[in-house]
Order: sequence, then structure tokens, then C-alpha cells
Amino acid sequence: MQKKIQSALISVFYKDGLEPLVKELNRLGVTIYSTGGTQKFIEDLGISCVPVENLTTYPSILGGRVKTLHPAVFGGILGRRDVEQDLKEMQEYKIPEIDLVIVDLYPFEETLRNTTEEKLIIEKIDIGGPSMIRAAAKNFRDLVVIAAKDDYAGLVELLQNQNGATSIEQRKSYAAKAFDVVMNYDIAINNYFNGTILKPLTHKQSMRYGENPHQKASFFGDLTEVFTQLNGKELSYNNLVDVDAAVQIIQEFTDTTFAIIKHTNVCGVAARPTVKESWDAALAGDPESAFGGVLVCNGTIDKATAEAINEIFFEVLIAPGFDGDALAILKSKKNRILLELKDQKSKVKTQFKSVLNGTLVQDNDEGNYAEWKEVGGRETTATEKDNLAFANIVCKHLKSNAIALIKDKQLVGKGCGQTSRVDSLRQSITKAKQFNFDLHGAVLASDAFFPFNDCVQIAHAEGIEAFIQPGGSVRDKDSIEYCVQNNLAMVMTGLRHFKH
Ligand code: 5GP
Repeated sequence: MQKKIQSALISVFYKDGLEPLVKELNRLGVTIYSTGGTQKFIEDLGISCVPVENLTTYPSILGGRVKTLHPAVFGGILGRRDVEQDLKEMQEYKIPEIDLVIVDLYPFEETLRNTTEEKLIIEKIDIGGPSMIRAAAKNFRDLVVIAAKDDYAGLVELLQNQNGATSIEQRKSYAAKAFDVVMNYDIAINNYFNGTILKPLTHKQSMRYGENPHQKASFFGDLTEVFTQLNGKELSYNNLVDVDAAVQIIQEFTDTTFAIIKHTNVCGVAARPTVKESWDAALAGDPESAFGGVLVCNGTIDKATAEAINEIFFEVLIAPGFDGDALAILKSKKNRILLELKDQKSKVKTQFKSVLNGTLVQDNDEGNYAEWKEVGGRETTATEKDNLAFANIVCKHLKSNAIALIKDKQLVGKGCGQTSRVDSLRQSITKAKQFNFDLHGAVLASDAFFPFNDCVQIAHAEGIEAFIQPGGSVRDKDSIEYCVQNNLAMVMTGLRHFKH
């Protein structure tokens, strides 16, 4: 049903962007009601408006805490125009109909960013604003509600095109957005009071499909905070899942490192003095799996690296920077996704996972060791130490059960997502042999403890002589004894890294 706007209540914290809308409403002859600061802004434009106090018969009181909270205002918003009793009561209590509500809420989140003083923060909890938004949205059959500044321009256009009238579909769509605004506002307040970390569900982006083409999907969040997309098609659901894994692992390294991700697992990773050498070594670790992967580096991609990467098919390349020449080479294929990673912004602090009909929330798996306890038959050498530390990080980013075999800061074999740790070990050895790596001198990391000494025995038979694992099994001593008897080094970290 088309409905012409005849009256509007405007109460906005930030006045910017409001002028064209107020002028359009004035042009259409709409009666404007408004609160103190907003009223002044409108009058300064030379447009007359009715102070909301004329409706409430109260001034703004309690330092602005109560301005619009009054039956004359809420009656005008909530009154159903097609319910005789409502209209009768509105007439009886001299409540004018309000057809449009425009609110910009007190900036709660901005205040939180700027101060820790509780008094100031509390004062920025808007009460009347969300109430008006909710009321107007509830009564969308009769009202238009604008709860976000970025809707001002759209409304101006709509009013111009439709001569001041709106359709019920348009009003309902504004109402949906309005509830989104108040929900996120309340999430921010809830987070402050409860120390929780619920993410506001703003910036919803629909995706072409989910994990598979028959699954619908959306992304909630703001990717522009994490990276700038320099080239390529729209990121898919699976791309994003892998990009997340890629960003998480690369943030662990300070030396120049390249990693190749497939289905959230790292299939190649290496640290070398240069980006190009790191790429070559990461790829050499498992050139078969790298096909179609998500590539990530913590250094700037130069021309030589770009030329080398250009040889293979990949989905996404992520790096903190790209040299001009490199970018030109990589952009030669228009679908290739190139992402310039922003500074640490993407550091994930909380993880969410849906289970049954609920959501699990947990801290990110921060830190790599609780301790570095040498428990083997001998101390680790300096080279082993470096490689064990590297292996421990790589293993942390593989799906459990996970085993990582590292030699010279290069992943030479990995086993992951297996239902038995021994199977993961066997898989990692098979992988290493497939690409002709000699495992003598390689080190092994395990994401969780060894319940038996079988893993250590099998690895030792391949020439591996240094191990890193969290420990904590009732049978830790079986593996330790084996190491002692065979002069093998073993480090216990005290920190398990399950990844399910
Ligand atoms: P103004 O600058 O017009 O004086 O105030 C506008 C702001 O007041 C808007 O952000 C609006 O959401 C808020 N507001 C309007 N009515 C009330 C009320 O009754 N209580 C509180 N706390 N805020 C209100």
C-alpha cells in the first residue's frame, strides 16, 4: 500500500548527511518534529520544525536521558492507523500521527574506543533512540524508519521518485534494517557489560553459494579490515575458509616464510632468507598438493617470485605487499585472487563453531609452548631446536591428529585429519618419500601426546632423532624411555594443539 509521509520525527546524534533529506521533507510539506540539537540544526537550515517538547509537554530532562520517552511520541509512532480504537485514543489524547522516524543513535562503540571512564560510557547508552526505532519498525505497516545514516540518500531518491510516498515492501525493508541496527547496538552494550565477545552481525555479504553449490551462504563481518583485494573473482566460501587458515599460520612466523594451504591444512611451508627461496622450498615440500592452493607469504612478493608462482595454478595469493612488476605478472590471469594483507588487523581472538542447535565460542589457540622441557636421551642441538620450534607451529595448524616432519625449516611430510596418530605419521613418511626426502636429520612434531611409544619407534626407523610434543599421557614414560635408550632428543611443551 502506497502511503504518503505527512509527518516526521527526527532525532539524530550526528547531523552530517541530514541536510538533503530535511530539505526534501520540507519540499514535500512534511511536518517535522525534533529534539533539541536536531531541532537547532534544522532551524539553522531555515526550515521550521516543531520541538518534541510541544508533544510531550516536558522539556528534555535528566541531562537528556528523557527527551522523547512519552506516550504522545510513542502513541504517534505505535498507533495503528487501521484500528479504530487506536485512532479514537490518539484523538482523545491529542496524539499526532508520525509517519517517518529518523534516528542516529548515541555513538556507544565510538565512546568505548575513546574512553574507559564508565560514567561517560554509560551516558552513551541511548534509550529513547532505540525505543523509537523499535516502535517505528514494529509499526512498519504505517511508518518508515531510518536508523542508519547510509539510508538518508536512498530515502531522498525514493521520496523524489514516488512523490513522498512509500510502499509497504519498502517500509518493511527499512524495518528489517532498523532491527539490525538495534540488535548490533545491544550486542555492543552486552559485550561491554558481560565481557563477552559476540560479533555484531553487520556487513552481511551474501555469497554465491556455500561449501557446495547447493548450499546457500553469507558472510558476516568486514573483510576490508583484513585485506585489500587487488585482483580476481569474488572470494568463495571455501576460499575464505582457506584464507583464514593461511592468515592464521603466517602470522606465527617472523622469518621470511611461505605457506601453501589446501582445505585449511598447510601442505607446503618453508622459511628461507628470501621470499623466492621460501616459495621454492614450500612448493618442493609437496608440489602435487599445491595445485589450486591458497598461497601466503609474510614478505613482499617480488618479480622473481611472481614469475615462479605464475607457473602454477592457484586460487589465492596473500601477502603484505606486492612489487609493481610482480603485480603486473600475477594479474595476467583475471580470476586469480590477490589479497594485500593489512597489518595484524586480522588477528583472530575468538573462534566460533556451530554445533547441534548452538554455537561454541572459544579463545584462539594462542601461544606455542607452556614450557620447553628436554626429556630425551640427550639435549637438542641448536639446529634441532630451530626446526622443532618451526615444526611445532606447523603442526598446530594441521587438523588433528597431526604430525609434521620438518627438515631445514621446510615441511617435508605431514599427516593430518587421521583418526589415529600412527596413521598420520605413516602418511607423513609416505609423503616425504614420494618427493624423495631423506628423513635422516628431520624432526617430528605431534599436536598431542604419544599414548604409546609406537610413533617414536616408527619415526626413528626412518632416521628421525628429535621430537616435540605436549606430553601429558599417563604413558609418557614409554616414549621417553625409548628416546633415552636410543639417544634421541625429545621436547615436551605442556601445550596441546588439537584442531578438530
Ligand atoms: P539531539 O541532538 O537532537 O538533542 O539528540 C539526538 C539524540 O538523542 C539521538 O541520538 C537520539 O537517539 C537521542 N534520544 C532521543 N530521545 C531520547 C531519550 O528520550 N532518551 C535518550 N537517552 N536519548 C534520546
